[in-house]
Amino acid sequence: MKLKSAIAYEEKWAEKWAEAKIFEADPKPGKPKIFICVPYSYQNAPLHVGHGFTYTRGDAYARFKRMQGYNVLFPWAWHWTGEAVAGTCERLKRGDQSVRKMLVEIDGVPEELLDKFTDPVFVTRYYTEENRETVKAMGLSIDWRREFHTTDLHPYYSKFIEWQYITLKNKGYITKGRHPVVWCPRCKSPTGDHDRLAGEGVSPEEYTLVYFKFGDAYLAAATLRPETIFGVTNIWINPNHEYVLIQADGKKLIVSEQAAYKLKNQTKVEILKKIPADELIGKFAETPLTGKHIPIFPADLVDPDFGSGVVYSVPAHAPYDYAGIIALKNNQERIRKYQLKELVESIKPISIIRVPGYGEFPAVEEVERLGITSDTDPRLEEATKTIYSKEFHEGVLKDNCGEYSGKTVSEARDLVKEKLIEMGLGGVMWELPEKVICRCGTETIVKIVEDQWFLKYSDPEWKEKVKEHIRNMNIYPEEARRWFLNVVDWLRDWACARKTGLGTKLPWDPDWIVETLSDSTIYPALYTISKYLNLGIIKPDQLNIDVLNYIYLGAGDPEKISSQSGIKEEILKQVREEFLYWYPVDMRISAKELVPNHLTFYIFHHVAIFEPRHWPRGIGVNGMLKIEGEKMSKSKGNFIPLKKAIEIYGADATRATLLLAAEDLDDPDWRDKNAREARNMLDVLIRICRDVVSANSNDYTRVDEWLLSTLQRKMKKITSAMEKLKTRTAFNEALYGLYNDWKWYIRRTGGRLGKAAEKFLEEWVKILAPFIPFTAEECWSMLGKSGFVSLEKWPEPREELINEDAELREDLLKNLMEDIRSITEVYGKPPKKIVIYVSSKKKRELLGKAIELKSLESKAALGNLIKWMIAEKLADKKKAPTLAKLMVDTLASLTSKYKEKTLLNVAENELEFYEESREFLEREFNANVEIYSEDQENIYDPRNKASTALPLRPGIYIE
Ligand SMILES: [Zn+2]
Repeated sequence: MKLKSAIAYEEKWAEKWAEAKIFEADPKPGKPKIFICVPYSYQNAPLHVGHGFTYTRGDAYARFKRMQGYNVLFPWAWHWTGEAVAGTCERLKRGDQSVRKMLVEIDGVPEELLDKFTDPVFVTRYYTEENRETVKAMGLSIDWRREFHTTDLHPYYSKFIEWQYITLKNKGYITKGRHPVVWCPRCKSPTGDHDRLAGEGVSPEEYTLVYFKFGDAYLAAATLRPETIFGVTNIWINPNHEYVLIQADGKKLIVSEQAAYKLKNQTKVEILKKIPADELIGKFAETPLTGKHIPIFPADLVDPDFGSGVVYSVPAHAPYDYAGIIALKNNQERIRKYQLKELVESIKPISIIRVPGYGEFPAVEEVERLGITSDTDPRLEEATKTIYSKEFHEGVLKDNCGEYSGKTVSEARDLVKEKLIEMGLGGVMWELPEKVICRCGTETIVKIVEDQWFLKYSDPEWKEKVKEHIRNMNIYPEEARRWFLNVVDWLRDWACARKTGLGTKLPWDPDWIVETLSDSTIYPALYTISKYLNLGIIKPDQLNIDVLNYIYLGAGDPEKISSQSGIKEEILKQVREEFLYWYPVDMRISAKELVPNHLTFYIFHHVAIFEPRHWPRGIGVNGMLKIEGEKMSKSKGNFIPLKKAIEIYGADATRATLLLAAEDLDDPDWRDKNAREARNMLDVLIRICRDVVSANSNDYTRVDEWLLSTLQRKMKKITSAMEKLKTRTAFNEALYGLYNDWKWYIRRTGGRLGKAAEKFLEEWVKILAPFIPFTAEECWSMLGKSGFVSLEKWPEPREELINEDAELREDLLKNLMEDIRSITEVYGKPPKKIVIYVSSKKKRELLGKAIELKSLESKAALGNLIKWMIAEKLADKKKAPTLAKLMVDTLASLTSKYKEKTLLNVAENELEFYEESREFLEREFNANVEIYSEDQENIYDPRNKASTALPLRPGIYIE
C-alpha cells in the first residue's frame, strides 16, 4: 500500500516533520490561535484530486497562519456513517463484475482482498488506512494525535453523538412526527442527501390534488398552481396507460396506477378497480368552484409516473397545455378514434391572469413565438419556467376568478388550495421534482412516515438565530453568504435517523441510527478533546453526559463529576481549558456542494448547543473539480485518485496544479498539461537555489534595489489575498509573479547575481512554503538554513526597502525596449545601431509643467501646455501639439502607479540610468547602442529624432 511520490525529497520531509512533531498543537495561553478544519470524507473510495483541492486550500491557509505566528490546530478524521459502502458491498455479493473491475482498475484494490469487500466495516477500514497514507504524502500539516472515525465501531465517537442528541432533544430541537421524507422502499429507510446515487439536494414538494367530479367518483389532478382552476378548459390523461379507481381521503378517486402506489405511502389507499383510459376519454367532468363541465382528452404530455397521472389544462397560461391542444388537433387518428373533432375545435384558451409584458394569453404567445407544434418539444420546459415565474411574481387574477379576482397569484395560490380542501374538493400529494436514487440502486418515493425522528430546522426562532449569525460570520467568498441565507429560508424539518447502515444509535430509541449528515455537524468540538482519549488519559467509558456537559458547556461541579467519572479533577479542568482555548472553529473550508446541507447544518447545531462565543467564525467555500473540462466520475473513466496524482507528479506539483486552478466559487479544472508544467517549475526552483548558493557577489546595483523593492510589494499582495482565502491569486503571484521578477533580474544582470539575490530567494522560499511545502523545505536546506521553513516567520514587507525610483526606472526601461521592438518590427530586420536621446535639461521642465496643469480639464491642460512649449521655445508650432499630447499621455500612464515626486526624481537622472543600462540593451538587441542628451554637442542625429525626446520618454533612432 506504501505510496511512492514522484519527487524523491517529499518522503524525506514528511518524515522529518513527523519526527519533529511540528504540527502537533497544544494550547499556549497568551498566544493567538487559529482552528482550521475541512469536512471529513466518506471512506467508501480512495480520496480523489477533488478532495485534494479543498484540502490543499485548507492546508495552505493553515501553514500561512502558522507562519504568521498563530498557534494553529488542523486536525483530521474519517466519516464511516451511513450507507456509503453498502451499495458496493451488496453489488459485490451479487457477483457484479463491473464493481470488481472498478475496484481493481480505478481504486487499485488488490484482487486477493476483493472477497473481503463484501463487508462494509472491512471496506471503511481499508480506505481509512490507505487514505491516511495519502493525506500524509500530500503534506497536510495535521495534528494526528486527534484523529478519529465515526460510528459505534469507534471507542468514543458514539459517546459524543449520544451527548449531542440528548442535548438537542432536551432543548426541544428534535421531534417525532408525521412528515414527508424521501424514502427507499428497499432499505425501508429515509434516504438522506448523502445516501443517494442521484438527486442530491432534492426534497419532496407539496402538490394540490384538485378533484373533478366524474360520476360518483373524482378525477384527481395534481398541480402546483391551484389558482389556475378558473382557466381550465379540459382534462388530460395518457391514453396508453391504465388508471385505477381508489378509495382514499374518504372519496373515490381516479389516478394513474403508479400514482396509486405512491399515494399508498402517504395516506390510506384501497384500490377498487382498474379503469382503461378509453373509458374516460371524450367524457366530461365537473370543475370544482366553477361547476363547469369540461371534456377529458388524451395527451402524450401526461407522464403517468409523475404526480397523479391526471392533468388539468389551462392553455392560456401553460405552454404544455396549449401545445397539447395543437398536437391533438394535428393528430387525425386520435381525433377519429375518440370522435373528438368538434369538442377539440371548441376549446378556446381562457385568460385569467394579468401579467406585465404579455397580452391575454402568455402561453399562446410563447408557443407561437418558438414555433412549437408538439406537446413533447423540449423547449416547452423553458417557456413554462419563464411564464410560471413571471406570473407567480407579477401576476394578478382577473375579474373572472370569483372571490379571488384582484388578488396576486402568490396570494391566491394558498387560498384556493385551502378552500378546495375545506370543501372536500381537493387534497395533497407529495412528489419529488426529480428522480432520487438510493445508494442501493432503488428509485425512491415520498413517504409520509409516522414516528420518524426529525431535527426541527423549520423552527422559526432557531432559523432566525442561525441567520443572524450567518450575517456576522466571515464567509469567503462574500457571494456565498446570500446562498447560505437562502438555504436556511427553505430548509424544512430533517429526518435525522434511519434504520440501516453504520452509525450511532439514537440513545432513547435504539431502533434508529443517526443518519450521516446529522452525526457530522459539531464534531470539530471533539477534536479539542480527542487527544486525551487517544493518548489514554481519559478512558472512553468515562466520557459520560455529565463529563461532556462540563467540558463543552461548563455545566456542573468538576469535583463531583470527577469522583463520579473517575477522571482526575485536574485533568477535567485541563480538558475544559483546552476546549475553551481552541473553540470556536476559525475557518472551515469546503466544496460548495456542502452549502445546502452539511455546512448549514454545522451552523444550526452549533447555534443550538453551544454558547454564542463558540459558534463558527469563518467558512471558506470553493468550487467542484473537473477533469480536463469534464465532470469527474468513475463511470466516465476520468476519476483521478489523489495517491495516483502524487505518484505521477509528486505532492507539490499536485498541490500547485490544484491551487492554480481556481478560487472562490469557480470550478477548478485539473489538466495533465498543467500538472507537468507545475512539476517543471519545481525543478526550476531547485535550480535557482543551486545557482544562488554557488554564486558569490557583493555587487549591489540599482537592479538589486529594484528586486527587493518589487518583492516587498508582492508580499503585501500575497498576504492580503491569503487573508481572504484567495489562494489562487496568492499562489499565482507567489510562484509566477516572483519568478517573472527573478527572470527580469537575471536578464538585467546578465546572470551576475548581486547581493539581493540571496535575500530575495530566502524570502521567496518562505512565501512558497504554505503552497509547496516540500520543495520549500528542500530549497531552505539547500540555502544552508537550519530548522524548518514551515516554522519560519511569514515575511512582512519592509517599507524601507520599497524604492519607487528603482521600480520606475525598470518600467521605463521595459517601455523603451518595447518601443524599440515595435520600430524594428516595422523595418522587418534586426537593428545594427540604436540611438537613444534623453530630453534636454530645459525640456525636463516640461514634466513639472505637465504635472502642474494635470488638475485642469484635459483639453485646457493640453492647450496651455502647447502654448507654454512654444513660448519657452521647446518646440515650434508644428511639433508642439504632438509632443504635448505625448507628454500628457506618458504622465497619465505613470501617475496611476507612481508619485509625482518619483517621476521628477527619476527624470533628473535619466541619462545616467540609460548609460548604466547600455550594456544590457546591447546584449538584448545585439546591436550598438549610443545614448545622448538632446542638448549635447556633436550628437549623431541623422533623422532629427533628438527633438522628439521627452522627459521619461526618450527619442529613438534605429539603423
Ligand atoms: Zn436503498
